[in-house]
Amino acid sequence: MIRVEKAAVLGAGTMGAQIAAHLANAQIPTLLLDIVPREETQPAGALPDGRASAPSQDRIDAPPQDRNRIARAGFEAAKKSKPAALFTADLASLVTVGNFEDDLSKLKDCDLIIEAVVENLDIKRSLYEKVEQHRRPGSIVASNTSGIPLKQLAEGRSEDFRAHFLGMHFFNPPRYMHLVELIRTEWTRPEVSCSMFGFLDERLGKGVVVAKDRPNFIANRIGTFGALVTIHAMLEDSYSIEEVDKITGPAVGRPKTATFRTFDLVGLDVLAHVVKNLGENLPEDPERAMFAMPEFVGKMIERGLLGNKTKAGFYKRQKGEGDKREILVLDPATLDYRPAQRVKLPSLEMAKNIEDTAERIKTLVWSKDRAGTFLWKTFSRTLCYAADRIPEIADTVVEIDRAMQWGFNWELGPFEAWDAIGVEKSVAKLKEEGRSVPLNVQKLLDAGAKSFYKQEKGQRFYFDFPSAQYAPAADPPGTIILKSLRDRGTGVPPVIHAQDARATTAVIKRNSGASLLDLGDGVACLEFHSKMNSIGGDTLEMLKVALNEVEKNFIGLVVGNQGQNFSVGANLMLMLMEAQDENWDELDMIGRFFQQSVMSLRYSPKPVVVAPFQMVFGGGCEMVLHADRVRASAETYIGLVEVGVGIIPAGCGTKEMLVRAMDSIPSDMKDADPFPFVKRVFETIALAKVATSAEEARDLGFLGTDDSISMNRDRLIADAKKEVQALAASGYVQPQQRTDILALGNPALATLKLGVHMMKRAGYISDHDALIGEKLARILTGGDLNHTTQVSEQYLLDLEREAFLSLIGTRKTQDRIAHMLKTGKPLRN
Ligand code: NAD
Repeated sequence: MIRVEKAAVLGAGTMGAQIAAHLANAQIPTLLLDIVPREETQPAGALPDGRASAPSQDRIDAPPQDRNRIARAGFEAAKKSKPAALFTADLASLVTVGNFEDDLSKLKDCDLIIEAVVENLDIKRSLYEKVEQHRRPGSIVASNTSGIPLKQLAEGRSEDFRAHFLGMHFFNPPRYMHLVELIRTEWTRPEVSCSMFGFLDERLGKGVVVAKDRPNFIANRIGTFGALVTIHAMLEDSYSIEEVDKITGPAVGRPKTATFRTFDLVGLDVLAHVVKNLGENLPEDPERAMFAMPEFVGKMIERGLLGNKTKAGFYKRQKGEGDKREILVLDPATLDYRPAQRVKLPSLEMAKNIEDTAERIKTLVWSKDRAGTFLWKTFSRTLCYAADRIPEIADTVVEIDRAMQWGFNWELGPFEAWDAIGVEKSVAKLKEEGRSVPLNVQKLLDAGAKSFYKQEKGQRFYFDFPSAQYAPAADPPGTIILKSLRDRGTGVPPVIHAQDARATTAVIKRNSGASLLDLGDGVACLEFHSKMNSIGGDTLEMLKVALNEVEKNFIGLVVGNQGQNFSVGANLMLMLMEAQDENWDELDMIGRFFQQSVMSLRYSPKPVVVAPFQMVFGGGCEMVLHADRVRASAETYIGLVEVGVGIIPAGCGTKEMLVRAMDSIPSDMKDADPFPFVKRVFETIALAKVATSAEEARDLGFLGTDDSISMNRDRLIADAKKEVQALAASGYVQPQQRTDILALGNPALATLKLGVHMMKRAGYISDHDALIGEKLARILTGGDLNHTTQVSEQYLLDLEREAFLSLIGTRKTQDRIAHMLKTGKPLRN
């Protein structure tokens, strides 16, 4: 196994600088090099005529040269990029900038060198020639090229270089896009590609797909083909741009940016570059004619209508009447802009109610209106193209599906979508239309198979074309996929308290909000699966069941799931309805139940590990705060955001943040004033701060020093399970409730209140914000205490509930909750 302790990235442009930032995210010291600015191409210390300058006094007054300016500027841009390329700002110190003339000798210390300079064969090759003179034999060299064949890049290099050379195709932005395509050449040693697969997966958290060395690899080849088919179909059948976007977006499990908004985002020049590369390098492709940019797109590029970067592409925003923002859309025939129209098509309206993406795609593709016709035409062509590309670009359907899911954010890959549409039915239609059926698909039908994938006893199989039979599609090693686990066995018990069904299924208990699963090896998992994983009565009920079950039959519990977000917090709808009906006793009960649930998680006799990822708000955050250990995905956006809906964290969150603040005072500072620690927590909650990464969550106090991070979200549940096993094996001792929490009393309360008052006077916050701030301050200082006093957890929980009930009774808080439910955004009233 080759360890990467130090890396280098060559080229500090859009990709290189952000790849360097992501290596820093993985705690890898990285050298980032680029060319020397043209005006400073003389080596440092040389006179313009080439003579070495004497180290004289005169040079002190000379303007300082910055031969690293290009790499530095590239990295500065990455530091400022949005969304952020770095997990936290201080990780930037792991990246050192330099240039190709003065610093190549430093490559001898690097285990991995990733090249990301301009997409030009000669430039890349001449750089490799220089790299060859400095790299250490055995170090790995990877290219981030998007389209140049790796074999051509490696030609002429030494045997050792070629044996350690491969393609690592990151997607933009590299921190956030899950896919990396890994491309071997005939010379790449198996242990090199194997090590790099593991490195990209575990250390950089990427979804790795092995691609063949063919132009533009997998995702861009299929994605670009599909995009061009879509544009051509739009022109042939007179659809509008906004119609196409409505049909090809979330309705069919693709991103909101659908087709044309994605082009605007990527840039038409970048798209044109990929299309040109494909057109030039695929002379034998039967669909080669498709790889030509439609004329109107060429004209758009000539006019500089490149998309978001030039503020005009297929769409353009401008200020309309009364300064309202107006969205204009391009008319491909005239290249003029006109106001975008609302699109309403019957099948799309109907499909809105279908939750399941596969079911929705099937319904839409077979519908008889404009949406259905368009989808059949474009999907069928793209699916056939993808089927014909095996084994040219990938060995199996699995790689193509994963590449499209991870690189293009499609919910279903092409073959999963084809299964949803129905292979037999679509083949019959292809024949009816006189179109040819891909040989691979014919092979599948001839073998008596009906789909590209099938599920048997919880095991997923894919149809392998060369052997004409199904082969197991194993979950990636080191992962636990809860869906596979759930599917294992004969059925799911329908309701809570069903008899122990472990003999036949991994699902032990289940209700509408959550399930208790058996992860094996004595570890159970509480999986939320309510809408957006909001926490309601059923979720808490299942937590109770889980803790009881774990106490009796398991060594510990993982609280985690594999939805889109860990949890958006407590079920607001429920609370709003009770408040509007003035059911105060009911609300108090809900509050108590929430607090008891969170406390029982904290004080369970068996270890509990919570595994958050993506959005972790309010009640979700409170669960995290009360775990024995947290195993967080690197991409965790966590915060106590209750203030945004007019309440304070009342599910033990305010209490716990105070406990942590007081516990965080270093022992050698025990005589120090604790007020700044309380003030910090006050600000974190009052400003509803949300960490933008798990690493930042440590700084905000949501994660502790013992909590750990998984770079790859797919590994999170398996990693959390290991944490449970480690805790159980190390003699886990049930914690004791705290009665020693320092509350600073009225003097601290008065100072916090003064701060709130000043903010209100200065117009920074509203009257209602001020009221919420005062209530929060009261809890954090222990209510009405004349002086510093030690209080218990329960004492603080009672204060939390009191504040919660008084706030939810106000009109303004109810308005905030209603607004959040309706728009998903906070109301500042
Ligand atoms: P970029 O233009 O932003 O950066 C290219 C870098 O190369 C610049 O920093 C530039 O200073 C440097 N450079 C220019 N001339 C050079 C020379 N003669 N010698 C050495 N370096 C030189 O490009 P990018 O978008 O970061 O792309 C870099 C590589 O990554 C390309 O191979 C591209 O195909 C690939 N790629 C790009 C994307 C993307 O979305 N931008 C995605 C995946 C892969």
